[in-house]
Amino acid sequence: MDNLNLRIHPLHTEAAGLLTCQVVRFSDVPALLLNVARGDVRAAQTLRTLDQFLTNVERAKPQEPTLCATCDRSVQQSSFACAIVSADRDDATQALVFAICFHCAGTGSLASIKARIEDFLRENIWPELRVINPAPHGGRA
Ligand SMILES: [Zn+2]
Repeated sequence: MDNLNLRIHPLHTEAAGLLTCQVVRFSDVPALLLNVARGDVRAAQTLRTLDQFLTNVERAKPQEPTLCATCDRSVQQSSFACAIVSADRDDATQALVFAICFHCAGTGSLASIKARIEDFLRENIWPELRVINPAPHGGRA
């Protein structure tokens, strides 16, 4: 089992096939903080995951920088967005995080960034990935 498979296995176990992919740009952080203050568990998870990932990016060796998932440019801590893939549940403990460089994150809409990430995941990790549009939160069926 290679390194990526070892890291993905706990995520697969937790997700049971239902993953969520959240693209977070730095301009989203104030709204996330506000949601945390209102008791939003998923916003708190997102910020914790983002903080841990940024620490890893800062500590990366210069010869092994974190690369953009959609174009392979080196990313710098202050100039990119992140895609967080986790189980679609409030108590998720596992996540895969991918960096998106300023060039890719700054030139497209959120929908186009998500489409690029989905293509990346389909090509590199889950060839049978299908995107399901979630029901709006707060509604009743
Ligand atoms: Zn890029």
